[in-house]
Amino acid sequence: MAENKTENPGTEEMEVRLAQLNQFTRRTLTQEEVFLFDVRLCDNEIDRDGERFSLEALEQLKTLFVGKTGIFDHNPKGENQTARLYAAELVQDPERITAAGEVYTFLKGHAYMVRTDANRDLIREIDGGIKKEVSISCAAASQTCSVCGSDRRNSPCSHRIGQRYGDKLCHVVLGDVTDAYEWSFVAVPAQREAGVTKQFRSETDGAQRCKQLEQQLQNRDVLLNRMQNALRQDVVRLRFLVEGCTEKDAVSAAVERMNPEELLAFRETLRTRQKHLCQAQLKRPDAPEQNGAFRMT
Ligand SMILES: [Zn+2]
Repeated sequence: MAENKTENPGTEEMEVRLAQLNQFTRRTLTQEEVFLFDVRLCDNEIDRDGERFSLEALEQLKTLFVGKTGIFDHNPKGENQTARLYAAELVQDPERITAAGEVYTFLKGHAYMVRTDANRDLIREIDGGIKKEVSISCAAASQTCSVCGSDRRNSPCSHRIGQRYGDKLCHVVLGDVTDAYEWSFVAVPAQREAGVTKQFRSETDGAQRCKQLEQQLQNRDVLLNRMQNALRQDVVRLRFLVEGCTEKDAVSAAVERMNPEELLAFRETLRTRQKHLCQAQLKRPDAPEQNGAFRMT
C-alpha cells in the first residue's frame, strides 16, 4: 500500500533520506531526481492463507528488505520500472489488536524511484493510490502451529488452520526468516478497501515446490510409519494366537526392532503356523462333531 503520498518531508528529513538512498546508487541523486514513497510490506495479522509473521520475523524482514528491489506487475523487467527500498521500520498501532492478540505491527518500507520520462505514468499511479497492494517474497525457515507449537514441516500435527481449539485460533506462525527476495506492486482499483491486502508468498516458487515435495515425502513417511505399526500389531496378535504369548520376551523385543521386510516375513511364518495349528485342532479325535450343525438347515 502506497502511503503518505502527500507527505512532504522537511529539509532535514529529506537530507537524511537522500543520504540513505544514495548508499544504493552509482551517483549521488538529488531531491528533484527521485520520487519517494512508502509501502506497507507486511504485518503480523493472520492472512488469508492462515499464516502470520511473528514479531521477530518482522524484525528480520526489516533488516533483510533494505536495498531490495520492487517490481511492478505489468512490466517486471522494464527499464526504470523498478523501485528500491532504502530504509524500513516497524510501525505499531496500539489501538488495533490482531486476531492472535498482538498489537498490530507492520513493516513500512521507504522506497525511491529515479524519475524518468518512461516511468512518469507509473509514478502518477503510485501517487494517485492506484497501486496499493504489495506482495513480498521471502524464505521462512520455521512454520509452527499456533496451538501446539510443532513445526508444520518436520512434525505435522492434527490441528487445522482456521479452527478454534479452546480460545486459540489455529494458524501458522512464520519465523526465522532467512532471506527476503523481492517485493512487488499489484495494481488494484483505488476505491478498493484501503487496508493492507497481503499477498506474500512465504518462499520463492522454487522453494515453494521443494516445500511441497518435502511435505509429500513427509506424508508418505507418516503413512509408512502407520502401516509399519499396524503390521507390528498384527504380528503381536498372531504370536498371541499361535504361542499364547502375552508377556514381553526376547522375541517381542526383536519384533520392536524389525524393519517392514522382516515383519512381513515373520508374519508369514506365524500365519503358516497358525494354519497348521487350526488344522491340527480340527483333526483332533476329541474335537466336537461339527458336521451335524451344517445339516440342521
Ligand atoms: Zn498443532
